[in-house]
Amino acid sequence: MITGILRECGNEKRVAMLPGEAAVLQKLGPQVIIENDAGLNAFSADEEYRKAGVTPVSREEIFSKSDLILSVNSLPDDDLKYCRAGQVLCSVVNVAENSEWLESARSAGLTVLALDIIPRTTRAQAMDILSSMATVSGYKAVLDAAALLPRFFPMFMSAAGTIKPSRVLILGAGVAGLQAIAVARKLGAVVEVFDVRSAVKEEVKSLGGKFIEVEGAKEDAAAGGYAVEQTEEFKNKQRELIQQRAIAADVVIATAQIPGRKAPVLVSKDTVHSMKPGSVIIDLAASSGGNCELTENGKTVLINGVKIIGKSDYPSDMPADASKMFGNNIINLLKIILNKEGHLNLNMQDEIINGTTAVHAGEYVSRRAKQLLNIK
Ligand code: NAD
Repeated sequence: MITGILRECGNEKRVAMLPGEAAVLQKLGPQVIIENDAGLNAFSADEEYRKAGVTPVSREEIFSKSDLILSVNSLPDDDLKYCRAGQVLCSVVNVAENSEWLESARSAGLTVLALDIIPRTTRAQAMDILSSMATVSGYKAVLDAAALLPRFFPMFMSAAGTIKPSRVLILGAGVAGLQAIAVARKLGAVVEVFDVRSAVKEEVKSLGGKFIEVEGAKEDAAAGGYAVEQTEEFKNKQRELIQQRAIAADVVIATAQIPGRKAPVLVSKDTVHSMKPGSVIIDLAASSGGNCELTENGKTVLINGVKIIGKSDYPSDMPADASKMFGNNIINLLKIILNKEGHLNLNMQDEIINGTTAVHAGEYVSRRAKQLLNIK
């Protein structure tokens, strides 16, 4: 069984597996090959892979030789023609946004393991790429905000006077939000938090954040722990309360998402205009529309002295550790897929394998994928 690791395209700096993890994968059985210079932007040169027993090869060889192809992001559309029926692609797919790509892969007879739909269960935690990448985003967002803010984060009592601590408002206490609370608290900021899921209240408190409750939030057990769309009445009430807290804040870290939908708009134009000049908004939901009405994905905009940074690709800015986590997540997934001989064995009775397999043998498999694509 040959596993090929592809070089990423565009601005992506991560690689699906660093040399150390590739060596661990080889111990599980597969022979691993990697596209030339695939790890360069994550600070792992071909020489490091060679030392780990992994052979760098051309892109063509990855496609022609591999049974399993690993990448961080799904292959560019043009590359699908180089794949052959029966080959297994394993990457983040963003199923809801990439229905056409997935349909091409299905009709070409490929198997697609979509890492973004791994079930969010306790057993799958060590394979959960969304969680590990959200951890990177939450951490980096706070550091970015601290670097851009014209103020200190912690309180200082100095001979030059007393400096008040900065106030950080966090919207959405999922994995990224919780990490952001922890880092902002470590840097000494006062942290306030909004979420629609009451289950996170205790976690927010235990990290030292203040949970601001808006009554009347809609929760749905069938959403598998995720948030659901809220009523208009709730949204208006929440926007008002967020505005009050944002006026007092120095930093807003926005992380609120609803899977398969546009991100909820929580910070209105009005709210931005009423914030203090010098404040910073980091919008991690930028790629799905943004939590701030004025966010532009991939850009920094300045409105009345308030900087709005629309950035959903922080993991690519920390490529070394983000790639290490990514590779470890893949190894943990492959541990349940590879048989004793190190060959692929897709047991569709296993809820994690079934839940992650978007398409296989010409069929849509994962219930979550079908739900996101509206397939009966
Ligand atoms: P996410 O990225 O989908 O959303 C981020 C946060 O935004 C969520 O906490 C969500 O409730 C919140 N949000 C959505 N709409 C909002 C609104 N209108 N106002 C305020 N907040 C809003 O979330 P995530 O980080 O991917 O986590 C989703 C769920 O998965 C959580 O329940 C988390 O605990 C769970 N989870 C489970 C595992 C596991 O057991 N393997 C791993 C990771 C996450």
